[in-house]
Amino acid sequence: MKPKKIHSTLMWNYTFFIILISLILTAALTYLFSEIDSRMKEGVSPVYRAKDLVNESYRDISIEDIKPSGGWVEILNEQKKVIHVIGVKKDDLYTYSEQELYEKLDNPESQEFYYSIAPFTTPRGRELLCLVKIPRDSITIQVHLFKNYEQTVSEVTTTILKAIPILLIPIALMIFLFSHWTAKRISRPLKTITEGLKKMRDGEYDTRLVLDVKAESEFAKIRDAFNYMADRLEKTEQENQKLEESKQRMLVDISHDLKTPITSIQGYARALNEGMVNDKDKTQRYLNLIYDKSVRVTSLINTLFEFLMMDDSDYHLSTQEADLCEFLREMVLGHFDEMEEKNFDLHVHLPQTEVLYPIDQKQLSRAVSNILSNAVKYNPEGTKLRIELMETEDSVQIEIGDDGVGIPENVRQNIFDPFTRGDTARKSDGGTGLGLSISKKIVEKHGGSLCLLESSVERTIFAIHLPKGGEMLVAS
Ligand code: ADP
Repeated sequence: MKPKKIHSTLMWNYTFFIILISLILTAALTYLFSEIDSRMKEGVSPVYRAKDLVNESYRDISIEDIKPSGGWVEILNEQKKVIHVIGVKKDDLYTYSEQELYEKLDNPESQEFYYSIAPFTTPRGRELLCLVKIPRDSITIQVHLFKNYEQTVSEVTTTILKAIPILLIPIALMIFLFSHWTAKRISRPLKTITEGLKKMRDGEYDTRLVLDVKAESEFAKIRDAFNYMADRLEKTEQENQKLEESKQRMLVDISHDLKTPITSIQGYARALNEGMVNDKDKTQRYLNLIYDKSVRVTSLINTLFEFLMMDDSDYHLSTQEADLCEFLREMVLGHFDEMEEKNFDLHVHLPQTEVLYPIDQKQLSRAVSNILSNAVKYNPEGTKLRIELMETEDSVQIEIGDDGVGIPENVRQNIFDPFTRGDTARKSDGGTGLGLSISKKIVEKHGGSLCLLESSVERTIFAIHLPKGGEMLVAS
């Protein structure tokens, strides 16, 4: 929504709001005037009216309401003579002529007291009059109001009518400014959000919304949701990029690793084919080399196939509960000869009791074997090798550590990525660089994790962490 549109929407809203308020006010004023009108037409305050005070047993008449204004009540008989007074009488009139009384009931302004009269009949049937007298000062205001009521109403109405156009200008100005200000408060964050969305659409996943709004406002919620979404998208994008790069690198590495032995095979085969080698021993050596290189190619392809198969959705483990201590003992035995050959100083720490865990024996052997073989393969004679199993309440940890040459610093970070080798120039025909990535995948399929716990120039420790009750991918 454009700011202008918000502004006009708000303006219409406020105008409607003001019209509504004006209508309510008009209705309220009309009601008020009509109420005053009816009250005034009835005369002065009801508390001063004789007809409201009178009681057939006149001795019980209460003058509590008129007392504060200094008034009193007189009861007159048929001859208009005062026969009873309630309150303190402030004049000395005790007899009234008919005419005098009616003149006084006109309440001219010069009169000292305000008069109100009401006839009544006593329980015994006497026709009497109740006369209320209030000092003029106490009721001046009401009487004045009453007398000038018509004029007052017309004056008030004229003033209101005159004030309306004068008031309308600041009201209209206020509506305009307020709607403009409110629109800005809405449109500014909306603009920032729209710009942010556009940037995200264009692939700028590092975009984050910065809105100066109250924490509990709707805009703050949108900002938080947007930034959370941006975080996730950025992370996914980075992962995708990493995956793409690693795929690319993998393809380059595969081509390189296959190219080297195949080129050698081609060279030797060509030499033999073109009759360049006459010596029998040399021919045999070439044939052996061709054979060795082809074995390497096959092994490389097999390992690669195995590695890729692990990502297949049909790949599942076939687990069985086994004692991990026994499993590790067998693993050490399997590598014992090569360790002995290199005079390895072997330290095995396993609990005395069984540590049962559901494992795919064949696959986990492969994972552990890769780590053990590496330790023997890459370290010098006499290296100390420690194999330890630790069990806690909710997990099992297998540590395989050596005090050998350590993993080269430049490959430590990516040691579990396929084709990562210490021999970065890929000169040697030794490893494929797939061993540790295969181990990691197998451990992860068991619901665990494999990490390089420690690595320095003279120390390497791998840790296999297996949580108890973890989820693993097993064949159904
Ligand atoms: P490969 O052994 O086929 O090269 P791996 O993934 O098994 O591939 O190992 C990757 C690299 O890690 C090796 O090339 C080696 O440089 C290094 N490495 C692995 N284990 C050790 C170890 N215990 N000590 C020293 N270097 C190691």
